[in-house]
Amino acid sequence: MKFKDRNIFVGLGGTNKVGASCYYLKIGGQNILLDCGSGRLNEVNFSPPFNALLQTPYLQDLNQISQVFISHGHLDHVGALPDFLSLNSYANIYMTDITWQITKLQMRNKISAVAQDRIVTVDFSQQIPLNNVEVSFYRAGHIPGAMMIFFKYGGKTLLYTGDYSTFATQLVEAVILPKEKIDTLIICGLHARHPYYRANDSSLTKIIRRIQSALYLGRTAFCRISQISKGIELLTLINKFLPNVEIFIDKPIMNLIYSFEQLKIPVMKAQDHPLDYFSEKPGVILSVFKPPPYFWNYEIIPCDFSLHDDFNATVEFVEKINPKTCIVVHSPPDKKYFSDFTIEQALITSPDSRTNFIFPEDFTPIEF
Ligand SMILES: [Zn+2]
Ligand SMILES: [Zn+2]
Repeated sequence: MKFKDRNIFVGLGGTNKVGASCYYLKIGGQNILLDCGSGRLNEVNFSPPFNALLQTPYLQDLNQISQVFISHGHLDHVGALPDFLSLNSYANIYMTDITWQITKLQMRNKISAVAQDRIVTVDFSQQIPLNNVEVSFYRAGHIPGAMMIFFKYGGKTLLYTGDYSTFATQLVEAVILPKEKIDTLIICGLHARHPYYRANDSSLTKIIRRIQSALYLGRTAFCRISQISKGIELLTLINKFLPNVEIFIDKPIMNLIYSFEQLKIPVMKAQDHPLDYFSEKPGVILSVFKPPPYFWNYEIIPCDFSLHDDFNATVEFVEKINPKTCIVVHSPPDKKYFSDFTIEQALITSPDSRTNFIFPEDFTPIEF
């Protein structure tokens, strides 16, 4: 195979860990980035070291990257976009309209007006021809706006899942897959190395129970949300299970709700209000901030929950797609049970599986 015909993958962040998801892809002669996320270490945000690509034989200048595809609006997939835009003057940045709304809210003024002109919003029915590569987009589940990116080039196909869920959440339907055969799958397999991890909705049920018991004791349930979009998930759930409770929502979450409603995704019910002031009256507060220190009658409830497939669902998903090559990213090793058993071993016994698994490390190029 000629050098220029080789397909290359290089992880710049978020291969065997979560955070700073950013993957360089060379297919059909195109230089592409999949996601452009930031990470967080010791309370400090960091971006992937984009310049590391210049140490490889594939790129001489970051301006050779002509397309960036953002799978969804979580910061570990989009947070480094302002840094990338300051290093590259030409690339188009593709994402869904909802992802763009979520991104703008989180970035505030960090993306300049000039850079904003390079954002191209796409939807699930669209196909984009880029010289030798045709690109289309599929619903990924996970959170509103999340998309999978499907590439066709030189008679081959590749699917990048981004974060996805094969189950419906409070706000989105489950993933939809392309009908064509998939040769290479790049999967965000958060639990692909966690054989003992089983999803159940107990974490959400626990949060609802803690809210109920706080209210029962005459206290305010202060729900501290880890990510803005999860605030909307939780709100939808409280609306459903505790329809008589008054809910007060902080500004960042409220702004996202307004954008969702503009995009015709209704969220608010009569019981929901913007949080204009902190009252002593018991209720539920949804906030991404800490509560003010002078209030004592608050039960602080940390609200985190998973919107990802568990181990078994991941195995079933890959078994169904049955790609020739599966590059597993966004996939930390098992730190709880220290198990070495991964999706690869789980599929060895499957008679029809043809999949060759690769668990890359950051900065190690892979040819496929
Ligand atoms: Zn995500
Ligand atoms: Zn992620």
